Amino acid sequence: MRQIAFYGKGGIGKSTTQQNTAAALANQGNQIMVVGCDPKADCTRLLLRGHRQMSVLDTIRDLGDAEHVTLDRVVAEGYGGVKCVESGGPEPGVGCGGRGVITAIQTLERLGAYEEDLDFVFYDVLGDVVCGGFAMPIREGYAEEIYIVCSGEYMALFAANNISKGVQKFAQRGYVRLGGLICNSRMVENEYELVEEFARRLNTHMIHFVPRSKDVQRAEINKKTVLDYDETLPQASEYLAMAKKISENDRFIIPTPISQDELEDLMRSYGILD
Ligand code: ADP
Ligand code: MG
Repeated sequence: MRQIAFYGKGGIGKSTTQQNTAAALANQGNQIMVVGCDPKADCTRLLLRGHRQMSVLDTIRDLGDAEHVTLDRVVAEGYGGVKCVESGGPEPGVGCGGRGVITAIQTLERLGAYEEDLDFVFYDVLGDVVCGGFAMPIREGYAEEIYIVCSGEYMALFAANNISKGVQKFAQRGYVRLGGLICNSRMVENEYELVEEFARRLNTHMIHFVPRSKDVQRAEINKKTVLDYDETLPQASEYLAMAKKISENDRFIIPTPISQDELEDLMRSYGILD
């Protein structure tokens, strides 16, 4: 069982990319569980065709205590048999946002969700930085394989660099490793080359360049992953290709983050900052 987390700047496309990747891996014959770790509980919507899965925290609140929770209440089966869980969490600004994540994972463990024949577990983590409760899947040794979703935009790479600092810190004490960068294209000039070079400086690789495509949004409006919406679309092939690369990936490293000056120089040399 490989346990994977996607990190990246808010809005970069983590949930979309993760669900499309999970769908593709399921399509290739893998058993998958996706654990949404965003208090918005929107991490499994496309896999569940719009069904809003009741979060673990809400289920516990409804039932009065965690002892009454059963797997069938908190796990819903989505596209390709993907098991979908939402941790839930407090309203923004109230309490620790990561608390739901901790409770959800502990509940799943206690109920034996991890004992099934799973090939991959994905954690869809909120946040630009690996901090507090949102570091939980890494800190507690659940997610051992990290992918950073970014684009060629400065703020996306800035966040990716910060995340890699967090991964580096946790890697020195545990098993977590960076598996690569996923470039979710924003159609920035020289984006492919820039992200590839940035990845090289971090001691990692760009595992896939995902083109920006209206079909992603079309599928989303229809509450589906691209593969579920229309498997003949070129974008569906992109996610299948990425899933294969993740399956076959064997480059797991401790990242070497760069300084802000180096990042700015890099952006300038690709004509992105003046
Ligand atoms: P995050 O989880 O990182 O906050 P989301 O996955 O919610 O980001 O994505 C934000 C928006 O970007 C979504 O509306 C999604 O449709 C869009 N999006 C993501 N990836 C692509 C892509 N490759 N092409 C077009 N739109 C995309
Ligand atoms: Mg998200």
